[in-house]
Amino acid sequence: MDRPRVAIFDFACCEGCQLQIVNLEEELLDLVDSIDVVEWREAMTETSHEYDIALIEGSITRAEDEKRLEVIRTRAKTLIAFGACATMGGVNMLKNNFDLADVKKCVYGKSANMPHLDTMETKPVDAVVKVDYKIHGCPIDKNEFTYVVRCLLMGKKPEIPEFPVCVECKAKGNPCLWDYGQVCLGPIIRAGCGSRCPSSGFRCFSCRGYIDNPNTTAAKDVIEKHGLSVEMLKSKMVLFGTGQGPTNA
Ligand code: SF4
Ligand code: SF4
Ligand code: SF4
Repeated sequence: MDRPRVAIFDFACCEGCQLQIVNLEEELLDLVDSIDVVEWREAMTETSHEYDIALIEGSITRAEDEKRLEVIRTRAKTLIAFGACATMGGVNMLKNNFDLADVKKCVYGKSANMPHLDTMETKPVDAVVKVDYKIHGCPIDKNEFTYVVRCLLMGKKPEIPEFPVCVECKAKGNPCLWDYGQVCLGPIIRAGCGSRCPSSGFRCFSCRGYIDNPNTTAAKDVIEKHGLSVEMLKSKMVLFGTGQGPTNA
């Protein structure tokens, strides 16, 4: 691809994944030599309706967001959802567990019925438009971000891991946190983060979403070996687990 035009858009999110892009620092300068960034609200004032690649951060939580996203899709040759909010709804999906009117009242109090605070059940980007590639994580791994962009520049399909976090964790020689009383979701969650959390002594809490074919039998064996129930495991998956299916693009 010859110096493609790239636009970055955000929807409902904390913008932490865009911050990961900013955090690329010198590598970001290299990258912008190879691409033409035509819109990026967080970093520039210019806007454009003409772009080849659209990068979408955030989940879809309003009817007007669906319309905006559909327009972006019609303009972009390639659309990439980046960050858990975009790839699987992320933490914003939590609200789908409750009555929407109650959620609005809890957040906005007396102002809950003002028209500009209208909301709907949270959707990941691919529930609204076709997504070509996904960059998982909350936040994204900045190295994986540059890998995906560089693959596209070279006309290659990026390879996103289709194996669990445990593989990266074991390769690092980490002790298993299940043996230290933590309910780690590594056996069923997509690798690619370098087992970031278990390598720091904290359980994987599933921000990259499920792998496509989790070894549920092995996971069940681990749960039973440690005297826990599937229900308890599910209770540890609420943060990123609401309404989740496999997350691969
Ligand atoms: S995925 Fe996480 S870090 Fe990225 S925008 Fe959403 S909440 Fe923020
Ligand atoms: S600590 Fe978690 S990721 Fe690491 S091997 Fe154990 S279950 Fe897998
Ligand atoms: S270890 Fe799990 S929770 Fe932590 S970054 Fe990786 S996928 Fe996300």
